[in-house]
Amino acid sequence: MYDGPVLDNHLHLDPVNGRGVDAAEEFARAGGTHLNVLNKPSWHLVGDVDDEDGFGESFELTIDATEEADERLSGRAWPVLGVHPALISRLLDRGYDPDEAAELMQAGIDVAAEYVASGPALAIKSGRPHYEVDDAVWDASNTVMRHAFARAAEVGCAVQLHTEGGEDFEDVAEWAEAEGLPRERVVKHYSGGYVEGVVPSVISHKDELERACGGEWPFFMETDFIDDPDRPGAVLGPKTVPKRTRWLAEAGYEEALRRAHVETPARVYGIDTIATLSR
Ligand SMILES: [Zn+2]
Repeated sequence: MYDGPVLDNHLHLDPVNGRGVDAAEEFARAGGTHLNVLNKPSWHLVGDVDDEDGFGESFELTIDATEEADERLSGRAWPVLGVHPALISRLLDRGYDPDEAAELMQAGIDVAAEYVASGPALAIKSGRPHYEVDDAVWDASNTVMRHAFARAAEVGCAVQLHTEGGEDFEDVAEWAEAEGLPRERVVKHYSGGYVEGVVPSVISHKDELERACGGEWPFFMETDFIDDPDRPGAVLGPKTVPKRTRWLAEAGYEEALRRAHVETPARVYGIDTIATLSR
């Protein structure tokens, strides 16, 4: 049976409106060991943002919540910081044009990159809208995403992407490489069992996990738990990755689980989920 580390690669802790560290405790009690904690969109944490200080404030809240979570785990919790791609639409509603919005979002990415360079953050989050937008907004969003690749290449970290659905991300992988970031360091969050070009972080539905486990490519498991008391059950809960890991272990997917919880984290983020266990 699989008895190694258990990583949820994408979960939110909201110390302002949500359960915060309680959710991490629930994860740990269910058998989870490691967490990559994403900052919630800035407007949920600190309201409207018009300069890099606003992003910094939302990142600090997430770093603090992640440190508290870290103390509750037998493994580690790391912050993954960045700018939610849907921010562009909120900025347009507030009178920004697409280029101005992209500029502000890039400044947010720069702040996230500084938190990676100076220590606390593990990786950067970026992407592009998952809904229909016009060409100017799409182009501006792609510019922001490419900026995130360039900054990640500079500070030597991975990028988690929030994007539209689908499986073909070959173009995105080529853009990352053009900016100096290996495609192995680009992760598509909320992914199905497989994507072309980048590394899938598979949303923990049974069918998608079975697809990933049956293949030979690197992948992660995630819940995208949003820690929002107004939307209970809107996404998978914090116990889901440990529960699904046990279910997959019983089905004999031990090797695939090592891929998801040990090998892929090492390859993408450079973290050692075994050495960091049971401090
Ligand atoms: Zn998320």
